[in-house]
Amino acid sequence: MTNKSSPGLAASMKDKLIQQALERRLRQTTNVAPGPSLEGVNGAVHSVPEQFYRFDQHPGYQQLRIMLDGAARFGLTNPFFKLHEGLAGAETVIQGARYVNYASYNYLGYSGHPAVTAAAKAAIDHYGTSVSASRPVSGDRPIHRELERELADLYEVEDAITFVSGHATNVTTIGYLFGPRDLILHDELIHNSVLQGVQLSGARRLSFAHNDWEALDRVLSDQRQHFERVLVVLEGIYSMDGDYPDLPRFVELKKKHKVFLMVDEAHSLGVMGQTGKGIREHFGLAGGDVDIWMGTLSKSLASCGGYIAGEAALVEHLKFLAPGFLYSVGMPAPVAAAALAALRCLREDRERVATLQARGQQFLQLAKEAGLDTGTSTGLAVIPVITGSSLKATQLSWALSRRGINAQPILHPAVPEKAARVRFFVSCLHTPEQIAETVSAVAQELQKL
Ligand code: PMP
Repeated sequence: MTNKSSPGLAASMKDKLIQQALERRLRQTTNVAPGPSLEGVNGAVHSVPEQFYRFDQHPGYQQLRIMLDGAARFGLTNPFFKLHEGLAGAETVIQGARYVNYASYNYLGYSGHPAVTAAAKAAIDHYGTSVSASRPVSGDRPIHRELERELADLYEVEDAITFVSGHATNVTTIGYLFGPRDLILHDELIHNSVLQGVQLSGARRLSFAHNDWEALDRVLSDQRQHFERVLVVLEGIYSMDGDYPDLPRFVELKKKHKVFLMVDEAHSLGVMGQTGKGIREHFGLAGGDVDIWMGTLSKSLASCGGYIAGEAALVEHLKFLAPGFLYSVGMPAPVAAAALAALRCLREDRERVATLQARGQQFLQLAKEAGLDTGTSTGLAVIPVITGSSLKATQLSWALSRRGINAQPILHPAVPEKAARVRFFVSCLHTPEQIAETVSAVAQELQKL
């Protein structure tokens, strides 16, 4: 992809200006003048700087304001929190206008599928909208058990447990099971929910280069003996890049070094493998080759929540003691029913998975032919177009929006500035024509930036 030189230069000047403004503002906010002394007033004895008792002076908020205000000065409208007026699938309506949509994880189109909608409605009629307390207290519903049984069957493992949030599933599972004498190793691109879980656990954390099992082997050879439990965490498909690990290699390392292996299948369930059973099916592995199968119900399964599948001792332990399960409300029946119905659709309907895979390959192939930088994407549902700067990613996203295409920019600090991108989530409901038109629009708009 070649850029015309003058607009390209202007864009990098703008990048620099935003960066300089950010640095100036941060310098100002870190050299804080003390607030008025409160000594003697209502027994308060300390002078407390305003930033410690005002949210508008919180450093995170100040940074956010610099970014949003800076973008507004350059005429860029905030690309986040758009208002979608109905079902967001391969198409969506935003403020009255219809778009081809690449900003939803509704990979298999099961959100909005008549069988899934009907199951959720029937569950409301039967059980109501809430289970009104945690499951140990308010009890299970048959729908919880059916969902967990079918998830365990999918992985060919003993049992499964579901949580009300995918993010909280990682936080509470890792946070609860591991502690300060343990080591957690993760791919450098691992999702935030894993990092939060590690932080909560107090375990030592080390990352290894993306998908580099040899680097992991070296760290384990060096470090294994210094810790009690060791956990290695990977993703099935990496959500920013759309590539995946050579899982059999990691399974070998798990056995060699006697560590636990956890795989987050948020983006690979329903997407990878001939029948959509995920990375395990793709590589022909046994359920027991991975200790902790984790996934979310919010993507291919058209619902909300997360799960852990594995041996009975793991699941029972989490059910009785993981704080995010024990002290949090049980999954509402319609939410469980939607996921269960989607899981059953997935089992019976092979065509959607094959179509999703074909559409992803088509997108990737055309993008490569157009000279777009798609990084390491394998064309499995997630395809980034790397623009090289946050400003360009935002501009590209808006240019596409003007052409009736909705795709979100991913900006620094979510990715390194040079790796800023517009990310496309493909659905099995996209038509080949929509994909061809989108790739051609991306190539044309990038040329103009
Ligand atoms: N893991 C990964 C890899 C994710 O991408 C996400 C969110 N997209 C989560 C966990 C959290 O899942 P949820 O959004 O369902 O809470």
